Amino acid sequence: MSVPLFDTSSALAPLREELRAAIAKVLDSERYILGPEVEAFEREFAAYCGAKQAVGVANGTEAITIALRALGVGPGDEVVVPSFTFYASAEAIPPTGATPVFCDIDPATYCVTAETVKAALTPRTKAVIAVHLFGNVAPVAEIEALGVPVLEDAAQAAGSQSATGRPGALGKVATFSFFPSKNLGCFGDGGMITTSDAELAERVRVLRFHGSHDKVSYEQVGYNSRLDELQAAVLRVQLPHLDAWAQGRRAAGEHYIGAGLGEVDGVALPTPSAAAAPAWHLYVIARTDAGHLEAALNAAGIGCRGYYRTPVHRQQAMRAWGEGVELPATEEAAARHLAIPMSPVLSAAQAQEVTAAIAAVT
Ligand SMILES: *Cc1c(COP(=O)(O)O)cnc(C)c1O
Repeated sequence: MSVPLFDTSSALAPLREELRAAIAKVLDSERYILGPEVEAFEREFAAYCGAKQAVGVANGTEAITIALRALGVGPGDEVVVPSFTFYASAEAIPPTGATPVFCDIDPATYCVTAETVKAALTPRTKAVIAVHLFGNVAPVAEIEALGVPVLEDAAQAAGSQSATGRPGALGKVATFSFFPSKNLGCFGDGGMITTSDAELAERVRVLRFHGSHDKVSYEQVGYNSRLDELQAAVLRVQLPHLDAWAQGRRAAGEHYIGAGLGEVDGVALPTPSAAAAPAWHLYVIARTDAGHLEAALNAAGIGCRGYYRTPVHRQQAMRAWGEGVELPATEEAAARHLAIPMSPVLSAAQAQEVTAAIAAVT
């Protein structure tokens, strides 16, 4: 029997009729951009996160650029960002005119820490992007205690929890992606910015609509970056199920522990950060022979993938800012990590099968 890396269809299967009806309703309304579905979803998503405001945008990458601009980030500023993350976390910085400054991670949690961020701070640091990588939760309050505002890149952490609240409400501002494979995904591209700062939210609303308050005068160069009505309608059907799906992802992690994956020779399991309950977006183990393990598991029908083998600071597009940067924990994670099957419906039997397949690779 094979086990896929993802299963996005099983969770949606019981919702197909409701989704069709939501799409039909938008079609009949003939309102496609910034209408009642987006407004309602913004309210519902803000309430879910525990933030005062949510603003829908076109995708999770533009969400970061727009949130940084709304924070006042611009030319001459520096933004600290991890290098062990999806490329977009850093790609979103240069369009603001600011410079990415790469920092290291905690290899156990795969997230940045106050110490790794501190090592990258300078008098020009204007913001820190704390990525809640793989659904784990970065220590946002400890980082903000260093005196810099934090933008949470929560693209992979919808449904996760920490002792002090959910991603989306932990820092000054947060960004989400609703790319179809994320924990909460739409049927195309979509994104969200959450904050409890009303003035910041207003700046975001202006920036997402061409830098205009009134749609006839243009105060600053902005963006055409909106979540559309169809995607908002689809997301409104799914949001009430996010907690159950997150619970399924946590249960899948427990199934791996129960199957003894943590005792398999050389395997390091992902460590939830202090007091966090991650809704694992990806379940990422580490082993020194990750490349060999990846090939052997795929050959055996077990879906797996090393997502970030080349860290962002060593990508060609980042060479102006990555040159000479040394991040030992990032290099180690890049070489050793391997995402294994994870979904809201991964069963104990599947976890046992994956564990047995990993144990058989020596
Ligand atoms: C997916 C992702 C993004 C970008 O989101 P898009 O909607 O694809 O633009 C940004 N950061 C992280 C960590 C992501 O996983």
